[in-house]
Amino acid sequence: SAKVNQKGHIMTISQDLFERAQSSIPGGVNSPVRAFNGVGGTPLFITKAQGPFTYDADNNRYIDYVGSWGPMILGHNHPQIKQAVLDAVENGLSYGAPTETEILMAEKVKELVPSIEKVRMVSSGTEATMSAIRLARGFTGRDKILKFEGCYHGHADSLLVKAGSGALTMGVPNSPGIPADFAKHTLTVSFNNLDEVKAIFEQYRDQIACVIVEPVAGNMNCIPPVAGFLEGLRSVCTDNKSVLIFDEVMTGFRVALGGAQQYYKIEPDLTCLGKVIGGGMPVGAFGGKKEIMDFIAPVGPVYQAGTLSGNPIAMAAGLKALELLSAPGLHESLESKSKALCAGFQAAADKHNIPLTTNYAGGMFGFFFTDAKRVDSYQQATECDLERFKRFFHLMLEEGVYLAPSAFEAGFVSTMHSDQDIEDTIQAADRAFANLVA
Ligand code: PLP
Repeated sequence: SAKVNQKGHIMTISQDLFERAQSSIPGGVNSPVRAFNGVGGTPLFITKAQGPFTYDADNNRYIDYVGSWGPMILGHNHPQIKQAVLDAVENGLSYGAPTETEILMAEKVKELVPSIEKVRMVSSGTEATMSAIRLARGFTGRDKILKFEGCYHGHADSLLVKAGSGALTMGVPNSPGIPADFAKHTLTVSFNNLDEVKAIFEQYRDQIACVIVEPVAGNMNCIPPVAGFLEGLRSVCTDNKSVLIFDEVMTGFRVALGGAQQYYKIEPDLTCLGKVIGGGMPVGAFGGKKEIMDFIAPVGPVYQAGTLSGNPIAMAAGLKALELLSAPGLHESLESKSKALCAGFQAAADKHNIPLTTNYAGGMFGFFFTDAKRVDSYQQATECDLERFKRFFHLMLEEGVYLAPSAFEAGFVSTMHSDQDIEDTIQAADRAFANLVA
């Protein structure tokens, strides 16, 4: 018999689960964006996922463009990754001692991302960026770091900081619980604005340990770098002996096999990895120049460690994912899916006179409800029509398409999204756009 809520409305199983979850889990979720706060309504509870599809507790099927927020680049539950995990499980779950699989993983990462000469495994993207920042500070003996407004690098204290209302300003923490004394070491300027970068380097000349950047911003929708931006960061860092850190937690192995640094042909000093590198298991990594990496313990003085770092099950899954991703032409095909999706959305929006702009790079994409012809900045991303996005999101959900439940997240395609899935998504968007203006 169907359950009813306090207002007497029949509840879906997801709604019922969400009510129950909220009494034992803060907000009913283990990571905030899952709560649908950005779009309203209640989140779907997922029971299984296969290929390009997820299935909710009410047995609805969705074409999924969240892909577990990035890791599922080969589609959900890939049979070879699943088998690699099952094989590894036979030998035990964790040893806290070195294994050969960790060497194979490190060698594979070096092969695919040549700027990485040595790499250390961790268990999340947050750990990767937090550790890379500590390493850059230890290596340079400087305290300040520079990040960009709207770039997300996980939730470590130094990185949960954005600019105040002025452009070039001392860091103001994003969240209670971060001492202002701590946040003041984080400088923040506008993404895609090299003039602001140069100005802040003028001001803090010998104090900036590193610049950390998402080479394609994917946490304020999808914003690729404008021509010359990454090149400019490279030369400013070289000139000022600051460490250039590419946070490729999202872009790594997705924008191209060798990440955004291969796509845009810029070599950072350190790279942070996550998501895809674990094949769906909790894995992160940071790596780069030997002379910097050898500054961490046990060879160097900068401390960094992890009970489950290099976990054998996670390494088996990640390594298999990286092997499968190395298939020739795979990333070209991924990019053509992003391109087709963006072109289809654009054409459908144009047909219904809905102002829309799209961006994509490799296997990630974004769309903006805006009159602007292109979106290059955080400012522009925040000026888009968020109410329209919310309605579009729910219309698409009703059509069986699961987009990120926030206007400030990139979308992800996988190798398992067929041409038909893409076409079905575009047709769904066409009907949703029609509904938006009806
Ligand atoms: N860096 C970037 C660019 C990310 O997109 C994310 C997560 O979305 C992180 C870091 C943090 O990774 P994790 O959620 O695994 O801690």
